[in-house]
Amino acid sequence: MESIEGLSPAISIDQKSTNRNPRSTVGTVTEIYDYMRLLYARIGIPHCPKCGKEIHKQTIDQMVDQIMAMPERAKIQLLAPVVRGRKGEHAKVLEHARKSGYVRVRIDGNLYELSEEIKLEKNIKHNIEIVVDRLIVKEGIEKRLTDSIETVMELSNGLMTVDVTDGQPVNFSQSFSCPDCGVSVDEVEPRSFSFNNPFGACLNVSAWGIRWSLMRS
Ligand SMILES: [Zn+2]
Repeated sequence: MESIEGLSPAISIDQKSTNRNPRSTVGTVTEIYDYMRLLYARIGIPHCPKCGKEIHKQTIDQMVDQIMAMPERAKIQLLAPVVRGRKGEHAKVLEHARKSGYVRVRIDGNLYELSEEIKLEKNIKHNIEIVVDRLIVKEGIEKRLTDSIETVMELSNGLMTVDVTDGQPVNFSQSFSCPDCGVSVDEVEPRSFSFNNPFGACLNVSAWGIRWSLMRS
């Protein structure tokens, strides 16, 4: 090869003195930053910012398969987590569940009948899960299981806890959210890595200033 032409330089920096924007960095001026965001968005694997676990989307069919693989005759409850660690009396949530015809609800780990009067402490964080179905794992329940999981997904925006008698509860997620912590992340897009966009903000501080200063340092 005698010569190769037409390759753009890896880095080219215009010396512009007019741009005094404090947010300009070598990355933004050279557009490397834009390519990095694109790269991260295409090949990145989202992890839970709380527990570090990989976050997957799961289809309802995959959830059905996973439940059907549980030991035969296992008693399970399908729970829709509708309130996760939020303060309040949540009277509307409970009223809505009652009106929709659900019978049981689990609040902070305890089961209640929705026909009882339930008064929650306003200033304490609560977890509320609606019991959507109770089943025994055996052949032939697939159709009912699918229908019930669909109902759970609608109630709780894609999250489900399956409570197994004499076993560990299993958490499921239909969207990009950690089934254990419930922290959801958006589908990974270039803007998720932007320090100029609220979508790129850190979940904990919800202020992009922090991340921005990290990226500049
Ligand atoms: Zn997690």
